[in-house]
Amino acid sequence: MSSTATSRAGRTTIPPEPPIGRVVRGWLLEAAARIIDAAPHLTELDARIGDGDHGINLGRGMGVVRDALQAPDASDDPATVLRSSGRLLISSVGGASGPLYGTLLLDAAEELGSVADAAALARAVRRGTAGVGRRGRSTVGQKTMLDTLVPAGETLVVSIDAGLGLTVATERAVETARIGRDSTRGMIAQRGRASYLGERAIGHLDPGAVSSCLLIEALNAAVSAVAEGQPPASTATSVEASR
Ligand code: ADP
Ligand code: MG
Repeated sequence: MSSTATSRAGRTTIPPEPPIGRVVRGWLLEAAARIIDAAPHLTELDARIGDGDHGINLGRGMGVVRDALQAPDASDDPATVLRSSGRLLISSVGGASGPLYGTLLLDAAEELGSVADAAALARAVRRGTAGVGRRGRSTVGQKTMLDTLVPAGETLVVSIDAGLGLTVATERAVETARIGRDSTRGMIAQRGRASYLGERAIGHLDPGAVSSCLLIEALNAAVSAVAEGQPPASTATSVEASR
């Protein structure tokens, strides 16, 4: 379905925004499906420039998140969903990525609060990416997940502020996330285990930049699915492109 509709009078109308509670829950379920599916690839990427556990770490954590979201008594409140999932990632994922992704969700939850609309969600994602940088003492250009997350978060906010709606905003965020992910190939790592490799890390994608691109793609898929009244699709799209 296209993200805009044409009325009988021929004018283009912006469709109502999908409910944010369903978007957030769908986002994390979709992200879990895609990351678990891509776990062997993420681990292989980490084996090239790290210690070969990124997919194992994150796949296990996202499995825990998925199970909690599917529990019969699970909350639908978006900030609660983000907060409880963030805590689960911190407690269940060994390695750097658990606390970093956990902080992303916790800070997003704090920003979202009780005002859950598209603009608040965009700001929540951007705030979460800032939380990763704070926790990791890292910034864009250091060959980490931030090279994907920061431009994606910024694109979301700019797009929503320009009145584009959540479907188009998340499509644009996917585009910038992929560019950011791919930019890590040419970088020397300045954070994490890959920083020990110096120039030998050049030519390899950062595994966290690849998993965070899956996260942004999952957000776009969840927004589209909720807008169309479908359950999340869970078809991975970026894994092939990132080999
Ligand atoms: P570990 O490096 O402890 O084995 P993982 O393999 O699960 O943890 O995750 C590695 C990923 O974590 C890297 O690819 C990178 O994207 C991200 N990362 C590591 N350190 C930092 C940091 N200080 N800031 C941001 N991201 C980081
Ligand atoms: Mg690792």
